[in-house]
Amino acid sequence: MSKGILMVVSGPSGCGKGTVLAEIVKSDNIFYSVSATTRSPRPGETDGINYHFLTKDKFEEMIDDEGMLEYASYCGNYYGTPLKPVEDMLEKGCHVILEIEVQGAMKIKEKCPDAVFIFILPPSLKELRRRLEKRGTESAEVIEKRLGEAAGEIAHAYKYDYAVVNGDLSKAVNDIKSIIRAEELKTAKIKNTINEVLENA
Ligand code: 5GP
Repeated sequence: MSKGILMVVSGPSGCGKGTVLAEIVKSDNIFYSVSATTRSPRPGETDGINYHFLTKDKFEEMIDDEGMLEYASYCGNYYGTPLKPVEDMLEKGCHVILEIEVQGAMKIKEKCPDAVFIFILPPSLKELRRRLEKRGTESAEVIEKRLGEAAGEIAHAYKYDYAVVNGDLSKAVNDIKSIIRAEELKTAKIKNTINEVLENA
């Protein structure tokens, strides 16, 4: 059985990554990697589902034990990808999605050259501000901090394999499904299928 595809998805805070990916993970065979973070849960977030909410000490212990595939510091908190579940799911043939920021994504690029990198863009910075303000889960100060990061993050989009604009949700979801399907059909990944066709004379 072939291994699953590791997919790395980034985009500025408020671009709608979470909403788009919630649709994508409804498909079979796709595993959403639950990250660890030291930030506090937002209202409605559940430990173990949205994130593993850890203390700084516990997070640093995991780093020391080499339990993180990657980690980064973002707006004053640690965020990281626990290694073991990702390895296990890829081995089982499941595709794994990491929703992570740019610094972490670039570390994955060095460690996992076969990973597929997708950047989600908002239709405009103006719309990004509107969405963050509408979400209402962060203070005005945090919103400004996140908007301050956004332009710099978007400048890294060209380092990704694909860029998807999230203006219309269903279009963005379909675009990502198309990317996944195209990656599955890459000849390097379907060697077994090609061999089966040739053997079946
Ligand atoms: P939020 O606080 O809005 O949930 O996430 C802030 C940023 O951290 C987002 O850009 C999100 O993609 C990123 N992030 C979430 N989990 C991880 C992770 O495991 N590693 C890294 N490097 N970034 C993450």
